[in-house]
Amino acid sequence: MSEEVFRKAAEAINRAPLVVAVTGAGASVESGIPDFRSTGGLWSKYPPAEYATMDAFLDDPDKVWVMFYELGETILAAQPNPGHLALAKLEEFGKLQGIVTQNIDGLHQQAGNTVVIEYHGNVHNLGCSSCFRRRRMDLSFRAHGAPRCECGGYMKPSVVLFGEPIPPKPLMQADTLARTCNAMLIVGTSAQVYPAAGLPYAAKENGAFIIECNVEPTEFTHSITDAFLQGPAGENLPKLAQLVMAR
Ligand code: NAD
Repeated sequence: MSEEVFRKAAEAINRAPLVVAVTGAGASVESGIPDFRSTGGLWSKYPPAEYATMDAFLDDPDKVWVMFYELGETILAAQPNPGHLALAKLEEFGKLQGIVTQNIDGLHQQAGNTVVIEYHGNVHNLGCSSCFRRRRMDLSFRAHGAPRCECGGYMKPSVVLFGEPIPPKPLMQADTLARTCNAMLIVGTSAQVYPAAGLPYAAKENGAFIIECNVEPTEFTHSITDAFLQGPAGENLPKLAQLVMAR
């Protein structure tokens, strides 16, 4: 890939008063958390219709918790990778005002970003599906299947399953950021999960410069992307951040 693309992207970030990143599963692949759609990803082991809908959870919580425990175990062992750290550096440098993440792993916060909108929730926080009680993910319950609340209801990670709405607060915050930013950095997302996939289009409508970092082209690439940084986020984001901070 030409150095010219990186230069264009860095200049756009430096020019922009408001820069927002939208991140997906690809941002955490180099931390050892598989994405869902690539070959060998999570969906090939846990088909979404069978595991990732509210109906599937209500029908058979023990079965769906097999996936939650595996995801929880992988996520609890993961650390931020150089891509996450580069985004944290950009915020520290005043060149990134917020991240909207579809990830449920908490790695952006762990890397040091302070404005992180979790669009699809967080696997670390559990909520009871019958009452208001909450608690933290605890892998030691694995042998007992789906964890129960003291009220008798089943606990569920506070993640948005297919068919569930995005909670209103992150939905509105993300929409506002997308509609007002001057540059958007899209990292490791397949552009297939709505409404998150609509955010870059909303940004483009507002005239934002779109930078995309992905190992392969997506539907954004040939429609709205202005600078496509093809390759792993853990390599390309540190390179981009260095160029931004060198100016
Ligand atoms: P996705 O699995 O649909 O797509 C991942 C994208 O990342 C693909 O376009 C792929 O080409 C790209 N990618 C893979 N490795 C990369 C790398 N090293 N650098 C840059 N790009 C890379 O993911 P999605 O678009 O986020 O949608 C899936 C849903 O699954 C999300 O809603 C998310 O909540 C959830 N999910 C979250 C995690 C997590 O929290 N880490 C992991 C898996 C899935």
